[in-house]
Amino acid sequence: MSEAGKVVVVGAGLAGCSCAISLAGRGINVTLIEAGAMLGGRVQSVSLRGIDREIDNCQHAAFRVYNRFLQLIGHCEAQEILRLQSQTRLSYLEVDKGRISTLKSGKLPPPNHLAISLLRAPFLNFKDKIALQKAVKALQKITEKERRDLDETAFLTWLKENGQTERAIKRFWDPLVMAALNIDSANASSSSAAFLFRKGLFSNADSFDVASFTGDLSGVLDPALRRTLHSAGVKLRTSSPVMEILSKDGVISGVSTRDEIISANTVILCTPIKPTTRLLRGVNLSEINNLIANNLESIGNTTLMGLHAFHEGAVLPENTQFVTCIEEPLIQMLFDRTGELDEIQRAGLPGHWISVPVSFADSFLSMKDTEIQTEYERVVKTAFPNAPELIQFHVVRAKRATSALRPGTQKFRPNADDASSGIILGGDWLDTDWPSTMEGAVRGGLSAAARLLAIRGDEQMNDWHHDMNWPDWPEPPSRGTKGWTEW
Ligand SMILES: Cc1cc2nc3c(=O)[nH]c(=O)nc-3n(C[C@H](O)[C@H](O)[C@H](O)COP(=O)(O)OP(=O)(O)OC[C@H]3O[C@@H](n4cnc5c(N)ncnc54)[C@H](O)[C@@H]3O)c2cc1C
Repeated sequence: MSEAGKVVVVGAGLAGCSCAISLAGRGINVTLIEAGAMLGGRVQSVSLRGIDREIDNCQHAAFRVYNRFLQLIGHCEAQEILRLQSQTRLSYLEVDKGRISTLKSGKLPPPNHLAISLLRAPFLNFKDKIALQKAVKALQKITEKERRDLDETAFLTWLKENGQTERAIKRFWDPLVMAALNIDSANASSSSAAFLFRKGLFSNADSFDVASFTGDLSGVLDPALRRTLHSAGVKLRTSSPVMEILSKDGVISGVSTRDEIISANTVILCTPIKPTTRLLRGVNLSEINNLIANNLESIGNTTLMGLHAFHEGAVLPENTQFVTCIEEPLIQMLFDRTGELDEIQRAGLPGHWISVPVSFADSFLSMKDTEIQTEYERVVKTAFPNAPELIQFHVVRAKRATSALRPGTQKFRPNADDASSGIILGGDWLDTDWPSTMEGAVRGGLSAAARLLAIRGDEQMNDWHHDMNWPDWPEPPSRGTKGWTEW
């Protein structure tokens, strides 16, 4: 590998790792620099008092429609760290009744693959279901241009304009929007929400198959990424925050960390919004970098909380992986996290683990842990009166969890090559249409890599788009693909 044309990738989350691995795979000399000690960025485990091992910061769910993310996992030969549903099963819990309805994919082609179970599901009434059909038809009819033009409109407005009942909004649309966009439909861009439903409902019948990690997040992701970076030949520096992007005579010359200067003629930023804006403003090369920084700030972030409850035994009924708790603002979902884990990964936990991701949690941040626990216990005891005793309860607050795709934010998302020459952009906030998710991150990282390769004359990358498979990696798994674990 030649020293000429050296590239520094900043940030070893999923975006930075995807970018570095794909570039090194095409012969580029890459150094990946990470501020923290572990790889995987926000997909992270934390230490909590009273637990002898690390656990997830928060439930991280993926879907089969996360094609580039699944390609990355396949390329890392780490299929065992995920388990995918063999049939879409989305369960809804009416807490007061303790009743669970499950939407399942059936034999009909999309967008009707969930229709039969939806007709039978008691959590919505006949009027709600007729309304849903109307919205699905409207979503199917709009063109991609019309969808993007909806960006200034709040999704709630769109839903009301398209005849949705209060119950359909609260019970069907809002939980899915919250889980995927980390914002409610009153505050979400219609363009982003419509993107999500069109991907999930119209592309393939298996798009909404849920995938979950079989071990604690850093525990399974860090070694898989590290191994793959190493065999690709990427030079890795951890615990080395990049302080500044350096330039000489108007040309990018590298970056400085606390301990050293690393030379490079291209710097790729795969960092979250806040450090990206700081690094961009620090390079005194072009007004365009300040403009991108201002735009990223205009997008801003929303919060997530991870609640972790440990019980003396299983809480959810057998074979129920997770439920969405209908019309519960705080305790939005219950995941049987112990059920998802491998046998070995269950060791060292203080009890049977229920994981509760709280999306768009900004208004709950100041609640005391004890108040949150009381609310959790109310929900669990109401729905499952015989639930085993609670042993431990923990709250993890992630203040800048994801980008906030509010109405009018689409125009602020940059493309990979929008910054000044020598700087390429690649985080989960890049304009890939995807929300700030693990899939958005991998797409961001690969888009940055493709841009650089195209600039350097790799003709295959001129036409590459993040909707296409990364050509050097295994194809994403369909249901039943050998080597992938399903349930
Ligand atoms: C609590 C929580 C729950 C979530 N749940 C889900 C979910 O269920 N499903 C889903 O798909 N997504 C979920 N997400 C979102 C998802 O984790 C992120 O969108 C994705 O991981 C972002 O990846 P990234 O590589 O773009 O950024 P990051 O993961 O943030 O990686 C950026 C890296 O840059 C490093 N860095 C920052 N500054 C510097 C610097 N100056 N020098 C060097 N390195 C630097 C950081 O340490 C970090 O490792 C969740 C996020 C959080 C926080």
